[in-house]
Amino acid sequence: MRISHISAARRLCPRVAAPLRLHRCQSSITTANLPPPLAVPPESLSLSEWSATVEEELIKLASRPLRPLTLADLIRFGRPPLSPKSLLASARFTRENLPVRLSRRILALRNLPFIIVSNPHVSQIFDNYRQSLRAIIASPLHPTTPAEEHKFTETLTDIVKTHSNTIPTLARGFLECRRYTTPAEVTSFLDQHLRERIGTRLMAEQHIALHLASTTSPEEAAAHTAIQDLGGDASTYIGTIDTALQPARLIHSCSSFVGDICELRYGVRPQIVIDGDPDVRFPYIPVHLEYIATELLKNAFRATVEAGATDPVRITIAKDPYSEGISMRVRDRGGGISPDDFPNIWSYSFTTFSNAGDENEDDALGRFNTGVASVGDGSSIAGLGYGLPLSRAYAEYFGGSLQVQSAYGWGTDVYLKLKGVAVDTI
Ligand code: ADP
Ligand code: MG
Repeated sequence: MRISHISAARRLCPRVAAPLRLHRCQSSITTANLPPPLAVPPESLSLSEWSATVEEELIKLASRPLRPLTLADLIRFGRPPLSPKSLLASARFTRENLPVRLSRRILALRNLPFIIVSNPHVSQIFDNYRQSLRAIIASPLHPTTPAEEHKFTETLTDIVKTHSNTIPTLARGFLECRRYTTPAEVTSFLDQHLRERIGTRLMAEQHIALHLASTTSPEEAAAHTAIQDLGGDASTYIGTIDTALQPARLIHSCSSFVGDICELRYGVRPQIVIDGDPDVRFPYIPVHLEYIATELLKNAFRATVEAGATDPVRITIAKDPYSEGISMRVRDRGGGISPDDFPNIWSYSFTTFSNAGDENEDDALGRFNTGVASVGDGSSIAGLGYGLPLSRAYAEYFGGSLQVQSAYGWGTDVYLKLKGVAVDTI
């Protein structure tokens, strides 16, 4: 049984052989549209003390406009044939944009109530961001040689690894702080934080993937990015984007994983039926759809088994006739969602799942996650209460949507819409 399924997002961290070495900002090449270096030395940003100068510099950096990331941006630098020039352009784009994004997150964490930011898990994330910003601003502002680009990719790889565990760590931190805050406050912070993180991570991963595509064979690049596991074919990839992603194949792969964890938990595995147009292909980021599909299937499988239903989970896929996008409906006969629970399903940490023995009816937060045992690596059928809100954040990131409709007493329909991008028009 394939229980040790490593999240595909994590598998996207390639191994860049040389050890990480940070170097001071040394570029003499500047252009008007590139941000000037920070006035404070990068080391100061890693200090535990928070000086007024550091804060001032961060505020300046964070107040620069946040350039929304589009699928077109991601594809632009990676269009084949991938030249050393476009790889350098991708590195410069990433180097220019990451500091603004990281400093916004640092300030947002810093602005949390002191009792929360001093929680060891939350403060670990805060430190990770500061360390990452320090590493980025120590890289040349304007990489101009393959060697500089290579070192920059090493820095990015290290950053992606450092942040791979952010979600369970933050979840644990906020759980420990639940007495000092409300679910609404946590959801408001996490929603913005995790949405921005999607773009930041993608920007870094896209450059890493383009670097790999230009420096290794297609087979090696495919092995690094787990393309085959995601039901894809290396020839249709541009970095992290599959220009011909077939949702039906990805759903089959996710359902096999979710079936495994469902069987482990309940001893049974619901079946799926895919109908509509299973041959549809569209350009999208497989790891994003993989995250959403896995979470929707976990919810549908859990509801089906807990309701004692035998009907398969039915996934209907349709191509949007007017765009590059798709629609998908995931329908289960698992009894639906009660009207009392329904208003809470988009709150981070709301769950009706409880591990045997950690039922916590007396807790003032009722159905909100109180069991840290559930904060794991995504291989639990439910319990973190992040599946729906985070899936919606992924869906909306590139202009899609996620909606839930419940026929209480019967079952649930989830509607997912995703917008692709017309690769030819870029
Ligand atoms: P988790 O699965 O960890 O509880 P989610 O965010 O995925 O967190 O879902 C939150 C809650 O929404 C679930 O605990 C469950 O009560 C309800 N829910 C979601 N999807 C379904 C479904 N298909 N059928 C019944 N209830 C559902
Ligand atoms: Mg779930």
